Amino acid sequence: MAVAHGIRMMQTGGPEVLTWGELPEPEAGPDDLVVRLHAAGLNFIDTYHRSGLYPVPLPYVPGVEGAGEVVAVGPGAAAAGFAPGHRVAWTSVPGSYAELVRVPARNAVTVPAAVSSETAAAVMLQGMTAHFLVTDTFPLGPGHRCLIHAAAGGVGRLLVQLAKQRGAEVFATVGSPAKAEMVRALGADHVIDYRTRDFAADVEAVAGPRSLDVVYDGVGKAVFEASLGLLRRRGLMATFGNASGPVDPVAPLRLMQLGSLFLTRPTLADHLVERSDLLRRSGELFEAIGAGRLDVEIGLRLPLAEAAEAHRRLESRTTTGKVLLVP
Ligand code: NDP
Repeated sequence: MAVAHGIRMMQTGGPEVLTWGELPEPEAGPDDLVVRLHAAGLNFIDTYHRSGLYPVPLPYVPGVEGAGEVVAVGPGAAAAGFAPGHRVAWTSVPGSYAELVRVPARNAVTVPAAVSSETAAAVMLQGMTAHFLVTDTFPLGPGHRCLIHAAAGGVGRLLVQLAKQRGAEVFATVGSPAKAEMVRALGADHVIDYRTRDFAADVEAVAGPRSLDVVYDGVGKAVFEASLGLLRRRGLMATFGNASGPVDPVAPLRLMQLGSLFLTRPTLADHLVERSDLLRRSGELFEAIGAGRLDVEIGLRLPLAEAAEAHRRLESRTTTGKVLLVP
């Protein structure tokens, strides 16, 4: 059997469970593409798969996102318009930390000429997440006040830009002075280093008590409680991640006591149900990138074989923007 290389994990655990080795070369099923990887995107969800927070079948090839060149197509994928030589990007495809990736055609989008493969790999998951958060979870508009946690991160940087473009007033938290500088440059109105400041007190000092329309929280446990107390009557808490750990259970009565709050725990998969959702969200992002309206920062590129090191850096809060793994 022919071989390709990639990252495998035989067990859950720390970054050391990610090892480089030979993998069977994938074959295109009827509705699949086989893609030669240009770049795989690193996402925080990859660390949950690795640690076991989100269970996966073992052995497992991690990674869910990437971009590259099509090298083989099944008949159904060909009928859908894909052909060898096309440049495509995808998300929600396990096994993406590999030189050759089998991608179901329904998960793939064509990358326009104005967008590099690296940039495409950088925005599929984090960009479409930022997109659904500002368009669907809480449709932001002028006059709205939002709080975005971890605003220098992959989702965070994109969320700040989309929120500002929609006319909202943006409060943003970050974990270092350098990150604060970056997020200010993106246009955030109020940037708070929550490792040295009490972010809730700082938000209240500017906006007054209970004044935010929505909190977009990908940090989770460490900031959830303090964030709830910042929302206005009938405001929305969108807790969409667990970077500091999963949020503890919340009694519905607390939502009443804090002002008839709404609480949601959204995930991208529920916002990509139809293929038209994938085409619309990725298409709007690619269009904004091509027109120079969306700044996508590749904060770190590492060789695919160094996936373990990439996980260490992401989890130690030393990265900004997107981390890519390049074969
Ligand atoms: P990021 O690039 O944002 O990295 C995570 C950031 O979280 C860090 O850089 C750090 O920024 C901050 N952070 C705060 N506390 C901790 C901690 N204890 N350990 C590690 N990081 C911490 O990652 P992503 O953009 O990939 O993801 C951001 C969040 O969004 C994650 O929780 C992820 O699971 C979630 N997500 C959810 C999706 C969904 O569909 N629901 C889809 C995509 C992402 P700082 O130093 O500034 O605090």
